[in-house]
Amino acid sequence: MESNDSDAVARVASVGLVALAIWLIASTLNGLPTPLDLSAPATEFSAARADATLGRLLGPEVPHPVSTAANEAVRDRVRGEFSALSIPTHLHRGLGCFDRRAKFGVFFCGTTEDIVADVAPGSGKAIILLAHYDSVPAGPGAADDQSGVATILETVRALKARGLQTIHPIIAVVSDGEEAGLLGADAFLADPQLKARVGAVVNVEARGNQGPSLMFQTSPGNGRLIDLYARSVPQYATSSLTSVIYKYLPNDTDLTLFINAGFIGYNFGLIGNVAHYHTLLDRRANLSAASLQSHGDNMLGMASGLMQTDFASLKGGDDVYVSVLGLFVPRVPASWALPLALFSLLLLIGTGLLSRSRVVGWRRWLAALVMPIAMVVGSAAAGWLLHLVASLVSGQPNPSYAYPLSLRLALALGVTTIGVLVSRLAQARPAALAVWFWMAALAIVTAALLPGLSPFFLFPALVGSLILLAHSRLVGAWTGTAGEFALFLAALPALLIWLSLAAGAESVQGLVAHPLFTVPAALCAMTLLPYLAVQPLSRRAWIRTSSLLAVAALVFAFIAGLQPAFSTSSPQRLNVDFIDDHVSSKALWAVDTGAPLPAAFRAAMPFSAAPEKASPLMYQPAYVAAAGPTRFAEPDAAITTAPQGSGRKVTLTFDGSDRSNEIILVVPNGAGLNRVELEGRSFVPAPGASNPVGTIIGCVTRDCRNKSVTLQFDSKRPVDVLLGEIDYGLPADGARLESVRPNTTVASQSGDTTIVFGKLTLP
Ligand SMILES: [Zn+2]
Repeated sequence: MESNDSDAVARVASVGLVALAIWLIASTLNGLPTPLDLSAPATEFSAARADATLGRLLGPEVPHPVSTAANEAVRDRVRGEFSALSIPTHLHRGLGCFDRRAKFGVFFCGTTEDIVADVAPGSGKAIILLAHYDSVPAGPGAADDQSGVATILETVRALKARGLQTIHPIIAVVSDGEEAGLLGADAFLADPQLKARVGAVVNVEARGNQGPSLMFQTSPGNGRLIDLYARSVPQYATSSLTSVIYKYLPNDTDLTLFINAGFIGYNFGLIGNVAHYHTLLDRRANLSAASLQSHGDNMLGMASGLMQTDFASLKGGDDVYVSVLGLFVPRVPASWALPLALFSLLLLIGTGLLSRSRVVGWRRWLAALVMPIAMVVGSAAAGWLLHLVASLVSGQPNPSYAYPLSLRLALALGVTTIGVLVSRLAQARPAALAVWFWMAALAIVTAALLPGLSPFFLFPALVGSLILLAHSRLVGAWTGTAGEFALFLAALPALLIWLSLAAGAESVQGLVAHPLFTVPAALCAMTLLPYLAVQPLSRRAWIRTSSLLAVAALVFAFIAGLQPAFSTSSPQRLNVDFIDDHVSSKALWAVDTGAPLPAAFRAAMPFSAAPEKASPLMYQPAYVAAAGPTRFAEPDAAITTAPQGSGRKVTLTFDGSDRSNEIILVVPNGAGLNRVELEGRSFVPAPGASNPVGTIIGCVTRDCRNKSVTLQFDSKRPVDVLLGEIDYGLPADGARLESVRPNTTVASQSGDTTIVFGKLTLP
């Protein structure tokens, strides 16, 4: 290899190492604090004290879903902790309902008991510190969301130690039934007196148990809220993009209901290590102390900030923003994003006109303009191919779930391969102008269409175009040492924020969502292409280097496929259900999992080869095995019918068994159902609801077994409905399946359940 070539190869290697270093910095310097120990001053939030509180709150660390004895025990322990801080509490018992999926034809209610604690009494609108104490049926909820409750308790303890200097009352609301559909928050807001007390809300939640407490959502019109956040908390983890993403995710938290009711608020969440979320692994021992400290720094910071702030001063327009290394939150009003993006394009045009260079023909310009597109599209395609290789070798749809390192390396090498492949398309000057043209163009497009995403393009485009303009008149601007330095410097902001985004996206979605890794990586890597183009590889070195990188990427993808997809700490999510089907008079075992059925289950029972629809009450197809005749009594209800106009009103009074945790009623589409009433709460099914099963009406707490529901129909035609009971747990012989469950699987969400259903005719 010639010396020129070895310089060029060294340049490729150094660029790769710089990207790796920035990735490492971005995933360590991410806003995560050092946890404080028990000796921390009383006026500070200490993760160690919060963790001790968490231990007392969790007690035996068992799942404690809404309306179970275990949840009542947690409720009493939470109240006990407030009492120990001399803070009075009362219970708000009420019916909460979930009707925001009307277009899917889903409506359910349940009775909840919210804990309302008067931290700083007074009249007027209050600061609400919000978390929920119930867990899902499958896990003890140490992070989700008992860590939030412990955070509130340690925060109010510190606030009291500071003397509680506040211009607003402070109320801690520890809600119930969040996991069952935000029921406690709904019941709270359904009470006019409680609702009238709400001023600003700080909610703490968890969708994982590691990483920084991400400020992932605010109420709309958030410019002043972001200013207050930037003033109030010690380290930052946020971006305007997370609010946009969150809007499209099915997940929800209590804060959504407060925001929909028009209140201002902040939402903080732990989002690292989703593998433990809503499973038995969501235990106290698995919760990161640094994450707990991060939650506390945020809640204590925001509470302290709000305590001295007039709520009216927090109204305003939206900002676009993104935190950098936990240290800065650059932000601009959303209305400035488009003008600033256009300004960065003007700077680039200026750079192009001012810079001295040889005249470049249109073909070379075209090649330069194609280069960034080829970089992004090629990287996404490489990611797809590498993931496919790993998946085929592994036989699993998500091969890197437990051991992501090999596939992460494969994807990084894949993106580097594409970078080398496209690097010879243009010389430094056209390459730089083309790369930053695209960055500015994407800033313009996102500013116009999806402003929350715009800072990821806008901030690098502004910095990049300013640097390019500043050095455009220098002699040797595009080739000399100063020029190279400028090209490199211009790329740094893009590297920082795009690699942080790639690392963050991986911690939330995993590498199965490989475009969320490859596309951000390609968008930052493309900013380094002009630097590579200063000293391009010879044709021979270009072929050798890219082939070597591509082979290395494939080897790592192959290794990723050889590693097991699951481990005891990142297990396969798998629920076992027993289904007693009185419509077809048979019982079934059903295994609900997103990955292939482990062989141990198949050895224990003849499960179906592929997932199939197990019952009309289960959305996901499942692996099924016959379980003989039905064995539980068919769910029943007393029915009364009264004519109403041209239709009729049917009231069902459930006669649920004492096992039942939830009652489910399914009214088929086309039955003419136009209104549902449950203890004064009503629901109007959206015409053309997209749920093929029909309208699903749930009553999801244990007191539902004797409740009544009234259905209004616009016809007098009799209709067959399905009535079901759901019980958290399996019949005794379910132990046989539980005993073969590999320790690389874990129940999640509702856990293992027994579903008993039959048909009722409504006259
Ligand atoms: Zn939660």
